[in-house]
Amino acid sequence: MPKLYIEEKYCKGCGICIEFCPVKVLKQSQKMNSRGYFPPESEEMDKCKECGMCSLLCPDFAIVIEE
Ligand code: SF4
Ligand code: SF4
Repeated sequence: MPKLYIEEKYCKGCGICIEFCPVKVLKQSQKMNSRGYFPPESEEMDKCKECGMCSLLCPDFAIVIEE
């Protein structure tokens, strides 16, 4: 399973990663981060294609895909 690491404290809740994930495995969590935003989460990471789109498009470099 791909290892997607979301650095929650960097997230500003813009939703770009959620919007552009081609397989729609990300959704907004209900847990607010320290900046008052709701970072993405996923319960379906087994469906992730490791395309890197979320990591590439995140304006705050909050998502890292580990090799
Ligand atoms: S790597 Fe691609 S498929 Fe996986 S969560 Fe990110 S955008 Fe979606
Ligand atoms: S693109 Fe980055 S800043 Fe925007 S919601 Fe996703 S993780 Fe947060």
